[in-house]
Amino acid sequence: MDLLEKLTQTPSVPGREDRIRKVIEDHLRTSGLFDEVRTDSLGSLIACRHARPAKGAEVTSPRKVMLAAHMDQIGFLVRHIDDKGFLRVNPVGGFDTRNLFARGVRVCTRDGDLAGVMNPGGRPIHIATDDEKKKVPIIGDFFIDLGLEVEEVTARVQIGDMVVLDGPFREVGEYVVSQCLDNRVGCWAQIRAIENLEHHSCDIYAAWTVQEEVGLRGAMPAAFGIDPDIGIACDTTLCCRTPGVPEEDRVTIPGNGVGLHVMDSSMISDIGLIQDIEAVAAEHDIKCQRGILPRGGQDGAVIQRSRSGVRTVSFACPVKYIHTVTEMSHKTDLASYPALLTAWLETL
Ligand SMILES: [Zn+2]
Repeated sequence: MDLLEKLTQTPSVPGREDRIRKVIEDHLRTSGLFDEVRTDSLGSLIACRHARPAKGAEVTSPRKVMLAAHMDQIGFLVRHIDDKGFLRVNPVGGFDTRNLFARGVRVCTRDGDLAGVMNPGGRPIHIATDDEKKKVPIIGDFFIDLGLEVEEVTARVQIGDMVVLDGPFREVGEYVVSQCLDNRVGCWAQIRAIENLEHHSCDIYAAWTVQEEVGLRGAMPAAFGIDPDIGIACDTTLCCRTPGVPEEDRVTIPGNGVGLHVMDSSMISDIGLIQDIEAVAAEHDIKCQRGILPRGGQDGAVIQRSRSGVRTVSFACPVKYIHTVTEMSHKTDLASYPALLTAWLETL
């Protein structure tokens, strides 16, 4: 859990993935899990581990298997500094504005991070009109207060600086709670899966991709460069077994194991691969569950359509309250994720 905590607490929004890439790259280089590690032009981290067949087993032309976990998180870039020193932001990824009231934030500048507070403009409840109380603000209504004079703000903050919300990592009951479990869980699962992997006949290319939250932008060139035979997207999915959501819209059930993403609005997973994975799960007694996400997409979509097409499947950890800073994942689902990846990779 220490590694997962570190990954969730390292700010990196789309186009500003330097920090999280460094954390992952440092981990890969000290662990020796991969034979080669490189960063592509867009910033995705790509590591290759050649086939390591069991003694006596020979591999003449290993298949190329690509794993992909996006390492960006939803957040903001500074768009404007007004004459009182308040910041306005542009979203990079989809927050629900109803979850953005009264938030602590971190503005990441060239000279270090500044703490701030985010709120929508308007009067506090004591003096607000009935109409004002009912209004759901848009992103453009929110501003950030750094508690500094305008001169200091303009000296330290630049247009384009990254802004993330505060959201600590905690263990709550059988769950972990944090910001950006989507998708530091996938980043973490890829590392843990390879750590536990002994023998495999395929060449493994693990990618930690950029800019997924703004439209799957990093995985496309990464997949083109790798040219894989099989694609595995490692991400998260909805888990809505919570009050106010009809049972048929739950997508996944917490504690029933890692999700196998049958389809979403961006791709349909290769059903043959899903069946293979389910057989491996049954053999090793690892929990997993199928899920369909009626709306939403992930990196698997662009891997699948890369070059002349790639058989692709998407793993997805169930996450409650996704795209908030209190995302929640069941420890059983977390544990089954790398376990199933490892067991399946051993068969490829
Ligand atoms: Zn995601």
